Amino acid sequence: MTQELHIVGGGMAGSEAAWQAANMGVRVVIHEMRPKVETFAHKTGNLGEMVCSNSFRSDDSEQNAVGLLHWEMRRAGGIIITTAHEHRLPAGGALAVDRDPFAETITRKLTSHPNISVSYEEVTELPTEGQWIIATGPLTSSKLGSAIQAETGSDALAFFDAIAPIVYTESINMDVAWLQSRYDKGETEAEQKAYLNCPMTKPQYEAFIDALLAADKTEFHEGETAGYFDGCLPIEVMAERGRETLRHGPMKPVGLTNANDPENKPYAVVQLRRDNALGTLYNIVGFQTKMKYGAQTEVFKMIPGLEDASFARLGGIHRNTFINSPTLLDNRLRMKSRPNVRFAGQITGVEGYVESASMGLVAGRMAAAEMLGLDLPDVPQDTAHGALIHHITGGAEAKTFQPMNVNFGLFRPLEGLRGGRRGRKDRYKGYTDRAKSDWQGWLEAQSLPISEA
Ligand SMILES: Cc1cc2nc3c(=O)[nH]c(=O)nc-3n(C[C@H](O)[C@H](O)[C@H](O)COP(=O)(O)OP(=O)(O)OC[C@H]3O[C@@H](n4cnc5c(N)ncnc54)[C@H](O)[C@@H]3O)c2cc1C
Repeated sequence: MTQELHIVGGGMAGSEAAWQAANMGVRVVIHEMRPKVETFAHKTGNLGEMVCSNSFRSDDSEQNAVGLLHWEMRRAGGIIITTAHEHRLPAGGALAVDRDPFAETITRKLTSHPNISVSYEEVTELPTEGQWIIATGPLTSSKLGSAIQAETGSDALAFFDAIAPIVYTESINMDVAWLQSRYDKGETEAEQKAYLNCPMTKPQYEAFIDALLAADKTEFHEGETAGYFDGCLPIEVMAERGRETLRHGPMKPVGLTNANDPENKPYAVVQLRRDNALGTLYNIVGFQTKMKYGAQTEVFKMIPGLEDASFARLGGIHRNTFINSPTLLDNRLRMKSRPNVRFAGQITGVEGYVESASMGLVAGRMAAAEMLGLDLPDVPQDTAHGALIHHITGGAEAKTFQPMNVNFGLFRPLEGLRGGRRGRKDRYKGYTDRAKSDWQGWLEAQSLPISEA
């Protein structure tokens, strides 16, 4: 086989994809623009550089979805996760690493691999020939971003994420909240009850506005806001513009009757919209925010019905280039319009170092298998990798698609296990046991070495 696999971007996803494909016997060229062309967040020319925190989050593979992703990656001999363990720092249950030696080791392992070469250059066009993986991340260079946009259309490529907080459905108090679309719009009952509503009295609304105004916020990076502020203002900025602004915007109470208390008209209403086909997650409509995470949980728990809410992810607004994967990619992460080009990492609409690396892992294996003529089964949906792929390429709502961390809300429910908080421990153990067994089966079907780690 003389064909090479070209990988654009040597970050979390590109490094992992290269490692996986090279270990399957495919020759790989990584095209990395740093150090020649810099981003505002990277500091070195190393491959696999961590741009901000030095944590890969929880390492608990029984009770935590990201810990499960760690486990699956370790089994598949992932370079990111095994190198992270080599440079582990004490951090309780989290996997924190010594970032510089970590990235230096990744760089050394990749550059000394006999099947891998690195070309330090910026790629500015979408390739028409050969096998490619685009793994250029949230800070994809603007030239390549424009080339992708020219292919996908401007609606299918975002340069910012404006993430509204996402809540686990089971943690919402339905004695307070009720299901109803504004003015009962829709043909079917499902459409007429598409939203979940949380009512507020005037004192509750006033207290909520005070808390929003007082909350700790994060600042934008220099140059980060360019082109952003049209159409998705953070809620606290709306509140700063006037105490009534939210009540006339995302929190307007019109067209809604509180099913739990029909006689009393709410002063304001917070609406949540279904976030996945499984119905296990709801996002708070219009609640993108720059509040710090701690402040968000405090402020959002003031919303009646969300007092005990568990958040699958909190809100945020960041510079982030990502494509509308549900419409653009097939379940092998190939571009439907250009099947020789795959996408991997944060640009596919996953969020986080671990999730990005995991999409690199599967993309690398899929590309290599295709080039070698191997029959690679689909990644099982009930694994952490499979749940993420399923979400970004099919399960998520394409219209409101925003980047997503791995979380148990993406997993198909298990029959016969107790719902709610009390059943959570058993449920999570059930998800992770099922995932481990399916992942092991997927790896064994590939006749490649499986790590005992
Ligand atoms: C400022 C910031 C802070 C973040 N903090 C965290 C955090 O603390 N924890 C966390 O889990 N996640 C964080 N993320 C989110 C994200 O998980 C990481 O950015 C992660 O590194 C994404 O992995 P990736 O491989 O998709 O992209 P990256 O790791 O960014 O890798 C992409 C690579 O592609 C290169 N590249 C870009 N364009 C081109 C081009 N045209 N040609 C050639 N090379 C190119 C880049 O130089 C880079 O090396 C953060 C993101 C940002 C932007």
